[in-house]
Formats: sequence, structure tokens, C-alpha cells
Amino acid sequence: MENLAVQQWIDNVIKPEQIERYLNHGKDFIDEPFIQETLLQTRNPDKNRVREIMAKSLELERLNPDETATLLNCTDEDLWQEMYATGLKIKHKVYGRRIVFFAPLYVSNNCVNSCVYCGYRKENKESVRHRLSPAELEEEIKALVSKGHKRLIMVYGEHPDSDVHYIADTLRIAYNTKVGNGEIRRVNVNAAPMSIEDLKILRDVGIGTFQVFQETYHHATYKKMHPRGLKANMGWRLYASHRAMEAGVDDVGIGALFGLADWKFEVMGLLAHTIDLEQKFGGVGPHTISFPRMQPAVNTPFAEKSPNLVDNDTFKKLVTVIRLSVPYTGMILTARESAEVRNDVINVGCSQIDADSNIGVGAYSKDKVEVNTQQFVLGDQRSLDEAIRDMARMGYITSFCTADYRCGRTGGCFMGIAKKGKIHNLCQPNAILTFKEYLLDYASEETRQAASYLIDKEFEALPNDNIKQTVKSCWSVLKPGNGICFCKKTAGLTQNK
Ligand code: SF4
Repeated sequence: MENLAVQQWIDNVIKPEQIERYLNHGKDFIDEPFIQETLLQTRNPDKNRVREIMAKSLELERLNPDETATLLNCTDEDLWQEMYATGLKIKHKVYGRRIVFFAPLYVSNNCVNSCVYCGYRKENKESVRHRLSPAELEEEIKALVSKGHKRLIMVYGEHPDSDVHYIADTLRIAYNTKVGNGEIRRVNVNAAPMSIEDLKILRDVGIGTFQVFQETYHHATYKKMHPRGLKANMGWRLYASHRAMEAGVDDVGIGALFGLADWKFEVMGLLAHTIDLEQKFGGVGPHTISFPRMQPAVNTPFAEKSPNLVDNDTFKKLVTVIRLSVPYTGMILTARESAEVRNDVINVGCSQIDADSNIGVGAYSKDKVEVNTQQFVLGDQRSLDEAIRDMARMGYITSFCTADYRCGRTGGCFMGIAKKGKIHNLCQPNAILTFKEYLLDYASEETRQAASYLIDKEFEALPNDNIKQTVKSCWSVLKPGNGICFCKKTAGLTQNK
């Protein structure tokens, strides 16, 4: 595309009135002096105070800023151990012992922005650019479906080549591509902030969660990291989720890129974002929170020398505080992290992970890692089968279920059930069935063996005989490749419980 056409597109993306309408007395929701002061006032917290706050989280109540700051300021390692255990208890109370698996699919990496930490920044001449054609996208989807995936997050650079119409077309392709009895049942999108009008287009083609990470909530750092391009407008990004919810996209995902600014500030920023969404949208905040940690990228030295890089121990702590602060929200731990870190941090309350991820554009169908088309370098290279086996050995059941969305349990409906700690009653039967489906159709013998005891255990733990009976009747007809959609079979029954 000619430079002039690109510039004309850029000039029309941001709609200032779609930022201003959400401001509080002309200011955005990141009140930096308040955050800094709260962090200062809650230093050296008393043990009993920390335990009181943990008890509140266990009741599945969202924490206030001073409570979150108190946890962030804890320096007692024994108390941290208690917080880790509390994070896991909360996760089990809300979501049960299931972990939702998904795959990231990078669709295009042309980008008009200049983010200092990103391998896709437009000035990076060592990054090889590509946008998938419809045929290439279909090959990517087929490769993922053939491994057993049912749920994607499709990722796009910010560029007129991948505008809303291109994204909508790619969603249609993803939903319509079948391989045998396999299919993609939920497509989430990670893309640039859009207008309400554009988001309505994505709503109408069945977008799952619309995910936009703020990167950093710290104004001065944001400015430094995003010197040019559309992304230089921090307000447009801060209210991307607000616009999505106003457009009727029920589920939004927020996140911060840890490593850019002070980690405690970023956790407070995520909380402020959650609170503002809840206040403006009838108590409904983000469906998921992500906490990617900055990773090395091709020809991107900043990613390895930022003064705010987060070590493994701190990473575990910040994930724990997010779980305690927003107990009912989904939390995504990605393959940016090594298998070792993920196997540890999952135990403080994460609910979703990806596996077998290949983040080069067009890389799944070629089945090779192409570093020059990647945004950053991945830490966990396990196959889906291996990751599922590891989770099973740790006692986690893998879920490929997407019945919530197909039964309309999104947005406020999902949150209402999750906040009462009842969502796992709906999800557990479907998790068992979709796991069994995966084991029959895709798993290695070793994984089948590792998982079989878990299926029996989770079956016994189902809430009542009625549900057990239905699950049994579904799996009695299971055969490899017979194409039954178990979510559809059980959704009616579980939805009414
Ligand atoms: S972080 Fe996103 S917007 Fe920034 S350069 Fe990378 S792809 Fe583009």
C-alpha cells in the first residue's frame, strides 16, 4: 500500500469523542498520584490485615486499591506462601480444577506503530512482514484443528492491510474451516483499538473475547515506549474495552506488559481498569486479565535491557495479587514463559494457557519456527500433547469447552454466575467430555494413560446424579473421530442447574 493511502487511513482511525465520553471529569481512570500515595501508605503491612484481605478474596469479592496495594507491599515470605495457596483455592472455587487451552494464531504482522519493545515495530527492517491470504489462513486453521485445538486467539498488527473488514473475513474463515470432526468453536481477537462502529462489525461475525493490552498504565512510560503512530494516543487504547462493551462485544480482555514500568504500579493500573469497566458497565469488568512478561525479540535490544524487567519470583507474586484482587476473572498464562515457570505459576490461580504455540505468521502449516516473523521469542516449546499430559499429572483437567458462548453465558451473565462461584458446576461436565473427546481423537497413548485416572476422579466429583447420568450417556457413544459435539449435548442440561 502506498504511504499516502496508509497515512489517510491512519488519520481516520481515532475518534476523539469515543475517548472523551468515558472520562471522569475530563480525566482518565489512571490517577497516578492516588496510586503512588496508596502504595506508599500501605507499606509494611500488618499480618492480620493481609489475612483479612485474603479472607475477602476467598469470598470472591473484588479488592479495593488500598487492599491490593497492601498485598503488593507484603514482604513476609510465609504470608506469600499463604497467598499462593489462597490464589489456588479461589481459582478452584470459581473454575474448578480445569484449565482452558487455546492457541495463538498470528494472522498479519504489518504495523504502523513504533513500540520500542516490539519486534513488529515498523522501523524494524529485520522483521519479515506477511499477511495471510484466505488459502494460507485455512491451512493454518487446519493445522491447529488437526492437533485438537478448538479455541483461538487471532492476532493482527495495526495496519490498513488488516483493518476491521480483513479481520471479519478471517473470523468467517476460521469458523467455517473443518477437519474431520474437528472445528474451531471460539475465536478471540487480539488487535488494535477500534471504534464502536468497527467493533459492531466484529460482534456481528461472532467475535469471542476482544483483547487489547494497555502495555503500560504509567503515562510517562507509555509516551516513551510509543513515540509515534496511532499507538502514541494512550487514551484511545485505554478505552478500547469500553468501546467494545458499548458495541455489544460482551467479553473483553485486558493486560499489561510487565517489564515496562514498575510492576506494582501496573497491577494497580489493571485494577483501576477493572473498576472503571465495572462502574460503567453494570458491574461487568474484564472477562480475562493477561500479564505477559517482556521477552527478547529480533533486533529489539530494549526488550532485554529495560530497567523494570521482572524476575520469576516477582512474576509469581504479581500473578497472585491479580488473582486475589479480581477473584472471579479468567487469567491467562501464556507460552512466553518457560514450561518450568508455567508449571509453577499455574498453581496460584491461572485458568487459561496456550500450548504448542508458534507465533510466526503462517508457521503452523509449515511446522517450523521462523524467528524473523515472530513478535518475540517463546519460552515454552512443549507440544499440546505434552502440555496436557503435564497438566494431567498435576491434577488439572484440560477443557476445550466453548458451550458458555454458544449458550449465551457471556458478559454479565457469565460474571453473575462466576461471582457466585457456580460457573464450575456448568463447566465441569463439559470439561470432562471435551477432554475425553481430545484423548480419543488426538492424544498419545502416554497422555491417555496419564489422564484416565483424572477423568474418573472428576466424574465422581460432579455435583449430582442427574449430571453424571448425562455425562455417562454422552461418553457411552464416544468413538474416535465420530464427530459428536459434546458441548451441544450437555449444554442444555448443565445450563439449567
Ligand atoms: S506492539 Fe503491536 S502496535 Fe506495537 S509495534 Fe508491535 S505489533 Fe505494532
